[in-house]
Amino acid sequence: MQDLSSLWQAVLEKLELNVSNVSYVMWFKPLKVLDFVDGKKLIIATNSTSAKNQILRNYIDKLKSAVEDIFGENIEIEVLDQNEEIEYVKINGENSKEKGVEVNKNPFNAKYTFDNFVVGKSNQFVYAAARSVAEHPGEKFNPLFIYGGVGLGKTHILHAIGNYLKEFNPNLNVMYVTCEQFANDYIESLGSASKNKAVLEFRAKYRNLDVLMVDDIQFISKKTSTQEEFFHTFNELYQNNKQIIISSDRPPKDIETLADRLRSRFTSGLIQDIQQPDLETRIAILRKKCQLEKYVIDDNVIDFIAEKIDSNIRDLEGMLSKIYFLANLSNKPSATMEEAFEAFNGLIEEEKNEGLSPDDIIDCVCKYFDITRADIIGKKKSKEVVEPRMIAIYLISEILEMPLVSIGKLFGGRDHTTIMHSRDKISDALKTSFKTQSFINDIKKMLKSGQNC
Ligand code: ADP
Ligand code: MG
Repeated sequence: MQDLSSLWQAVLEKLELNVSNVSYVMWFKPLKVLDFVDGKKLIIATNSTSAKNQILRNYIDKLKSAVEDIFGENIEIEVLDQNEEIEYVKINGENSKEKGVEVNKNPFNAKYTFDNFVVGKSNQFVYAAARSVAEHPGEKFNPLFIYGGVGLGKTHILHAIGNYLKEFNPNLNVMYVTCEQFANDYIESLGSASKNKAVLEFRAKYRNLDVLMVDDIQFISKKTSTQEEFFHTFNELYQNNKQIIISSDRPPKDIETLADRLRSRFTSGLIQDIQQPDLETRIAILRKKCQLEKYVIDDNVIDFIAEKIDSNIRDLEGMLSKIYFLANLSNKPSATMEEAFEAFNGLIEEEKNEGLSPDDIIDCVCKYFDITRADIIGKKKSKEVVEPRMIAIYLISEILEMPLVSIGKLFGGRDHTTIMHSRDKISDALKTSFKTQSFINDIKKMLKSGQNC
């Protein structure tokens, strides 16, 4: 049983992936779910008659398919405008957003399929292995261990296996979880009032599967009891020839504090890495994305993005959407180099910072906050030091685009996930905190002018 609001949230998340940013923000985000009648009819409210008409005229298919993914097949949808909503609520009361709903949910992202996965030199072996496992689960490569950097397609390939199995082998019991979900699930069962029963249920859930996929297993590294439990889950499935597929941002040998017996299980099947895509693959991925999202974008813009961004496919796609969004805002039929330059403005700005080194940035941040270099690099955890440290990390990553691992080395050998966490914390704070915005602006100004650093 799940409540209606959270299911609707899941529908919105699907839609966000399946329509352009502009359409999502304009038409879907403002929608409200009012009721789910008899498990058959979903009542949705828009904020105006023209929004209702837009949805019915242009987006009803997308809406239907997202609703079906989450609520199951054959769901009727009724879209109300503002006045109809008032009427509906008058008759039915502020009905049932919290009412429990039983659904048959597909956990796999409909867009993450094998067909939508562009194969190139960087990922051809992972693709082949994943396909083979999807076609013959439990028979070929077991476990399949996929590793590669952030945004290179690991989650996509796991979902592709899931989607494939759902289509061609629907009777199999397939589960996809992130490592965090697995760990939380386990810890929750340990903390439950009827602990023994909860742990047994946990085990029944994870050990009676035909295929288990665990995404981002590196996060298991510090969780000793979860490792222990996963080891037994693994053995049980493995001994029964059930398929296990694992993804990680690094190979098993580099996952710190991983129990040796688990490490040796991970290495006992096939280990395959995804590398950074070459230029041709990046171009092909961008073209595929345009085709899927129905973006109209000039070819030279695609080449330009593919040349400029070479590390991560998520960033590549993000830039493509940004450029399309800019063209859309000014009602252009196609995105051109004009929008590309505008979107890249931030990056081009950075080029003005040429000649800056990470040390310059560290020195400048120290000076600005009046702390020492030893403190910023060291292990102190007081607020006066932690915030400047995160800001320095953020600036080095943002301005110099230095790899996280190298930044970690600069800051006393910190792990790259710690660096990523610091960077993301500041980049989130920038969206809401005036104080953080002014720190960053001041320091950037100092760096540009060379003043005081
Ligand atoms: P990871 O899990 O490795 O961090 P994701 O699977 O989330 O990366 O991929 C990031 C984005 O890049 C997703 O939108 C995904 O669809 C896309 N992507 C990655 N690899 C490919 C590929 N080979 N072809 C098409 N899209 C890809
Ligand atoms: Mg992922």
